[in-house]
Amino acid sequence: MEDNFFPLTYCPVCGGENTKKLWVKNSFDIFDCRSCRALFVPDRSLNLKKLYSKDYFTGAAQGFGYADYDRDKEAMRGTFEIYLAKIEKALPRNLPRRLLDVGAANGAFLAVAQKRNWEVRGVEVSDFAAAEGRKRGFDIKTGTVVEAKFPDAFFSVVTLWDVLEHIADPHATLKEITRITKGTGLVAVNTPDTQSLFAKLMRKYWHLANPPEHLILYNLENAAEMLKKYGYAAVAHAHVGKSFTLEYIFQTLSHQQKFFLWRFLLWLVARLRIRKLVIPVNVRDNFFLIAAKKAARTQRVTFRKP
Ligand SMILES: [Zn+2]
Repeated sequence: MEDNFFPLTYCPVCGGENTKKLWVKNSFDIFDCRSCRALFVPDRSLNLKKLYSKDYFTGAAQGFGYADYDRDKEAMRGTFEIYLAKIEKALPRNLPRRLLDVGAANGAFLAVAQKRNWEVRGVEVSDFAAAEGRKRGFDIKTGTVVEAKFPDAFFSVVTLWDVLEHIADPHATLKEITRITKGTGLVAVNTPDTQSLFAKLMRKYWHLANPPEHLILYNLENAAEMLKKYGYAAVAHAHVGKSFTLEYIFQTLSHQQKFFLWRFLLWLVARLRIRKLVIPVNVRDNFFLIAAKKAARTQRVTFRKP
């Protein structure tokens, strides 16, 4: 998460130099890596601290972010329960239930994990969101995981929900996560899937290709390959659906596709007092992946190269 570097001339996931400009979106170039099929934004002159200000979590005034983070994440409680059940199944028996949530926002996931008897900590780049989480009693440090400087081999599990796609330098982040994770610990992520049918159909109009919020978009194969460099092997994966409020859905659509229809529907759901109605969505364009350090050979799963 450093500001002001030069545009990247190589793939930030696999390091490949065979890249091609695909689209311009929100005035940012989006490149495709011909080796691992990551989509990425080469521009690194972004002010991320400013991007994740209060607006991002409360009103999406800059044209993106969350309508109301509390409510939208509340809608995700069921998804978090599914993620935790999968993590608990993969967790080696001798490890304590101690996790770090990277990009913890105001602690919505920490609250769900704590109820399931996890000892929880978080890091969050948005000082606004981190402060909200601290008010709710959670130990959330403002900054990146690299800045947080946790002790060696401290956590059994590190989670990154909807976070990997926002991180400009995933290798620096993973290197640090590896240092602070126990020898047989787990890392769990969910992030947009470029190899999903929905992404392939929508192409440039895929709502998750939305710079400067999302800087790198992965697939299961290149994410697993990247984790392998740090000693992790994939042990479980899934495409888990999410739930969103109607307000979030129409607000996102109206910001991204400037059609009058979305604005009208946004107005209509407010008028009908169904803004907070929760709708389950599963277009399978997000993947969930658990990777384990020193995983037994039999546990491993492999992915087809896209
Ligand atoms: Zn690549």
